[in-house]
Amino acid sequence: MQAFYADHFVLPLPDGHRFPMGKYERLRSRVALELAQVRPGVALPVSDGELALAHDPAYIQAVVDGSLSPAAMREIGFPWSPAMVERSRRSAGATVAAARVAMGLGGQPAEGIAANMAGGTHHASADKGSGFCVFNDAAIAARLMQAEHARLRRGERHPLQVAIIDLDVHQGNGTANIFSRDPTVFTLSMHGQKNFPFRKETSDLDVELPDGCRDDAYLHALELALDELDRRFSPGLVIYLAGADPHEGDRLGRLKLSWDGLEARDRRVFDWAFNRRIPLALAMAGGYGVNIEDTVQVQINTFRAALGYWERWRALS
Ligand SMILES: [Zn+2]
Repeated sequence: MQAFYADHFVLPLPDGHRFPMGKYERLRSRVALELAQVRPGVALPVSDGELALAHDPAYIQAVVDGSLSPAAMREIGFPWSPAMVERSRRSAGATVAAARVAMGLGGQPAEGIAANMAGGTHHASADKGSGFCVFNDAAIAARLMQAEHARLRRGERHPLQVAIIDLDVHQGNGTANIFSRDPTVFTLSMHGQKNFPFRKETSDLDVELPDGCRDDAYLHALELALDELDRRFSPGLVIYLAGADPHEGDRLGRLKLSWDGLEARDRRVFDWAFNRRIPLALAMAGGYGVNIEDTVQVQINTFRAALGYWERWRALS
C-alpha cells in the first residue's frame, strides 16, 4: 500500500509550541519498522493553480508571500516561514497522490486504497486557515480528482462524486464551508458537540457527540451516519479523515474511545467502502495524546487495518 509523506520538510516551531509536530516522523519510522507492506513515497507540492480549486487566489497569494495579517496567522497557529508554505503544499500533495493511486488516475491500475501520513487539514476554508490548517487537502484532492476524472472520461456527463468522511473529533468546518453549495461533494463530519470549532458550519451530514462518548454509542452513531450517506449519495471516491483525537488518551478530544473502538471505527469505514468498491484515500487528521505515542499507536492501528483492505483490493485484480 502506498503512503505519502512530507515530514522531512520541517516546519520550524518555537520551543514549547503546543502542536506535536514530531508525531509525523514517529509514525513514518514505526510504519517502516512494523508494516513492511506499506510503500512510502515523497509527496510532491501542489501548485497555485491546484490550490485555487479550493482556495481564493488572494488567500493563496498571502500565504505564499507571507503577507497574512498577524490575526490570520494566530488563527492558523503556526509562525509563517517559507518551510510552512512548502510543507502545506506537500501535505495537500500527499492526499492528492493517495487519491490518484486509489483511483488509478496516474496511469497505474487502481489500488483501491492509499494513504497520506499527514493531512486532514479540515479547518482551512476557501479564504482563511485555522486550527493548524493552512490549506484543505481533502478539498483540493476532491476537486482535482473531479477534474482529472472528467478529462479521462470525456463525454461522461456526470462529475465524479466524492464523499469526505471526517471522523476527526473536531468538526470539518473548513471542508463544510468550501462545499456548502457543491452537490457533487458530500461532507460527513462526526465530532464533539462541545469541542472546537465553537461556531460550527453546516456539513451535508453532521453528527454531534456528547463529551465522554464511548465505543458503543460512537459505533452506533457511525452506523446510522453511513446508512444516511447511502440513502443520499453514491460516491466514486471516499476521502477518509481518520483522526486519532477521539481516543480516550487525547488532551483535546473529550471523548472516550478505546483502542478497540477506534479500530472498529476504521474497519467499518474501510468495509463500507470496499463492499461498494469505492476507492478510498486515507488522511491522518488530528491527534494530541497526553502521551504522543498513544496518538501514533492509534494511527499505526489505522494503517494495519488499511493494509487488510489493500490486500482485499489486490485479491480482486
Ligand atoms: Zn481534531
